[in-house]
Amino acid sequence: MQNKTVIVTGGSRGIGRAICIDMAKNGANVVINYTSNEKEAIETMNLCKKYTEKVIVVKGDVSKYADCENILNVAIENFGSVEILVNNAGITKDGLIIRMNEDDFTKVININLKGSFNMMKLLSAHMIRKKYGRIINISSIVGIIGNAGQVNYSASKAGVIGMTKSLAKELASRNITVNAIAPGFIVTDMTKALPDSVMENLNIPVKRLGEAEDIANAVCFLASEKSSYITGQVISVDGGMS
Ligand code: NAP
Repeated sequence: MQNKTVIVTGGSRGIGRAICIDMAKNGANVVINYTSNEKEAIETMNLCKKYTEKVIVVKGDVSKYADCENILNVAIENFGSVEILVNNAGITKDGLIIRMNEDDFTKVININLKGSFNMMKLLSAHMIRKKYGRIINISSIVGIIGNAGQVNYSASKAGVIGMTKSLAKELASRNITVNAIAPGFIVTDMTKALPDSVMENLNIPVKRLGEAEDIANAVCFLASEKSSYITGQVISVDGGMS
């Protein structure tokens, strides 16, 4: 990935941080997006700087189109062009449907689904002009098999899979691939928020939770030249759960 530039949304923590570090290790210029946690974003930047000086942080809420335009513009000002997009930013607002209010639904859809749309729309135009691109969307096992208490989240992640498959068909002839990764349960702040009862009852065939690096490894493969004949696919990285 030498001389290629990647934007990682939600790169300040968790899975996004691991992706940023792996991209830096593989020679990419890294644009770390975050929305509120500047300290963590700078920590990710410092970790990437062990491998490259070409790394910046950009604040922006992916649910806002103008913020996404700014993220892309800052990336282009610093590095000239963007070849790889990783749509990783995501939130949960869990609850059974009878207790889930409209705002909990809308917020999750706006960040997880519309945020990915915003970035893909902007980057598609840019990548078509450059005749090259790799788009990797972080979906979830829950978008494939569902999960009680996550009607909003699973809808957003199933939507991401639909967008991935459709956009892959739109862009395939332009030398741009679009794929998704569906992680299982990965150790991050997001899963730390889950009650012990949920975590204890997980039936994971490989008998361990996933690490952020497990996801980063798959993302780096899809971002590399080695994946050029793969598009419109969903790769589950879930220890065999699905
Ligand atoms: P996390 O530790 O909670 O980190 C979430 C990241 O998203 C943070 O960098 C956060 O930025 C950023 N973010 C949140 N809202 C944003 C917004 N509006 N605009 C831009 N950035 C925003 O989550 P994670 O576990 O690493 O999850 C990363 C992705 O993997 C998510 O899409 C998640 O749905 C998916 N996933 C996770 C798991 C899992 O088990 N952990 C499983 C399946 C799928 P700040 O630091 O600024 O808040």
